[in-house]
Amino acid sequence: MSGAGSEHGAFVVAIDGPAAAGKGTLARRLADEFGFAYLDTGSLYRAVALALIRAGLPAPDEAEAEAAARALDFALLASPDLRREETGNLASVVAAMPAVRAALVDAQRQFGARPPGGKPGAVIDGRDIGTVICPDAPVKLFLTASTEARALRRFRELTAKDQPADMARIRAEIEARDARDAGRATAPLKAADDAHLLDTSDLAIEEVFAKAKAIIERARQSRT
Ligand code: C5P
Repeated sequence: MSGAGSEHGAFVVAIDGPAAAGKGTLARRLADEFGFAYLDTGSLYRAVALALIRAGLPAPDEAEAEAAARALDFALLASPDLRREETGNLASVVAAMPAVRAALVDAQRQFGARPPGGKPGAVIDGRDIGTVICPDAPVKLFLTASTEARALRRFRELTAKDQPADMARIRAEIEARDARDAGRATAPLKAADDAHLLDTSDLAIEEVFAKAKAIIERARQSRT
């Protein structure tokens, strides 16, 4: 176990939620605010997917995907190709494979137990952080937003980077990814019983940030 919620362990903020709910933006802001380390666990699954695409295995079986996860080259985490829709879609396919998830569990728990740089805490975002990776985290947030709001966010992100974007296609891909992430047998996307639910559909990032910050401050006070 990570020991992440224990009295002397690092302070872990677990953030889960579906694709494009605003987890990454919020997580980075919170990590900056509290001087915590930040881990985007989706990027690990994306890196596995990218390694497979580059190896000419766009439809891997579980053994091939597990081998890619165990041999993961962390340099891939810096690749701009990580953020492509194609990579995200294959990431959600390999993420449904139990052997792939098992290969990535330890690195994620280590990050929470001993954040890099000796930081006093970690913000970790993903789909199963509050339920599986760090079930003892003192703060768990579950971000949701309507499909329409999330598709619009993705659309704006892509057009801001001058990348081709089609609303109908983005919406369909988000729905397919949600269905795969929530419907899989191993570590499905779901809120932990003790997670704070934040619906970001009609909230500006500043409002989401203020709510999350207040929750963390309260939890830190109650731990001292
Ligand atoms: O968050 P992001 O969209 O980058 O994640 C890519 C995919 O990785 C998700 O659709 C999901 O299937 C998978 N994932 C996961 N568990 C996590 C983080 C991401 O299954 N903790």
